[in-house]
Amino acid sequence: MTPTLWLRPNRERSLKLRHPWIFSGGVAKVEGDPMPGATVCVKSSSGDALGWAAYSPASQIRARMWTFEPDEPVDAASITARVTAAAARRATLLAGGTDSARLVFSEADDVPGLIADRYGDTVVCQLTTAGAELWRDTLVDALAALPGVRTVFERSDADVREREGLGARVGLARGEPPSPELVAHEHRWRFGVDVAGGHKTGFYLDQRNARRAVEHLAPGRRVLNVFAYTGAFSVIAARCGAANLLSIDSSGPALAVAHRNAALNDVDIGELQEADAFTALRGLRDRAREYDLIILDPPKLANSEAQLDRASRAYKDLNLLAVKLLAPRGVLLTFSCSGAMTMDLFQKVVAGAALDARRTVRIVDRLHQPSDHPVPLAFPEAEYLKGLVLEAS
Ligand code: SAH
Repeated sequence: MTPTLWLRPNRERSLKLRHPWIFSGGVAKVEGDPMPGATVCVKSSSGDALGWAAYSPASQIRARMWTFEPDEPVDAASITARVTAAAARRATLLAGGTDSARLVFSEADDVPGLIADRYGDTVVCQLTTAGAELWRDTLVDALAALPGVRTVFERSDADVREREGLGARVGLARGEPPSPELVAHEHRWRFGVDVAGGHKTGFYLDQRNARRAVEHLAPGRRVLNVFAYTGAFSVIAARCGAANLLSIDSSGPALAVAHRNAALNDVDIGELQEADAFTALRGLRDRAREYDLIILDPPKLANSEAQLDRASRAYKDLNLLAVKLLAPRGVLLTFSCSGAMTMDLFQKVVAGAALDARRTVRIVDRLHQPSDHPVPLAFPEAEYLKGLVLEAS
């Protein structure tokens, strides 16, 4: 018997809008005893077939749609085709001055639970759902079969796996071990990528647009890069003629890669400070320091809507401290990568910070995640990274 997930009455609306998530509260019953990750037929309470989904018994997101077409097969061939098509959508980007891009962005590329980032000949993948876990061999084979791929390394160690009842798995999945010297080439920049020990898949591909912006904002400015990670913004600012530079991050290993990135790009990136950003910013404020360009790119501070209030206070504290450190006509590049925080809310939080700092601050630009992190119109949850380019009076 085909395992079947029956929705409660009137719970098919979001699926009709092609939104891929089925929450536990919308499920009436599940027949056929599917195992975690198994493909289930999704039916409305009146028995209409709505498509096929990956079943996640441990998660609040109880199932994720593979397809809204009841006649479309969900098998190794169709899943491989999704991965291949997602990679093909990045061809233009990868022909245009970078060898590094996100190839597969989970639901946004019709492969729920698979993140795959390419750095040259190396693909780093992360499986985050029971469905992706069940199809692991198919997924890593599909990635390994992409033209020019020598290594597929798995970084399935994201916290979100716990919500799916999955443990961590890190290691070589296909091909040759990753090079310890692996470098992402982006325009004229070189960034070292620590695939085994770095954050996420090793590098923040999603800040590509912001890196371009920093090229134009940095010349002649005194620059403060907070949450610097491996110093990508610092390298660019230094090479583009920043007057001086201070980079702050709490991760020693990340700052070690920042040193390596300075050498790779043949530039002096100035002082690297291993410190808590909140404490360091207060210290700079107490010493009445001033900067002409401040970059504020904190980690995800809200993992869910429930954490939004607390996260908003943290974003406000950070931005308040930053605005106070801005020289006259100084520029603040401030980010939130919390999906739960909308651009609207983020702007309000930052406005509150500027008000408390008694500064007049204008939005001169907005930044977003780049084209290899697309946002399907039917799945706005894919949008997570937003940035404001602010200019103080
Ligand atoms: N701007 C970076 C990415 C930043 S990711 C880039 O473009 O590559 C967020 C960074 O914040 C991580 O490097 C993490 O080590 C650092 N971090 C997290 N909490 C911190 C804290 N309390 N103080 C300072 N750094 C912190």
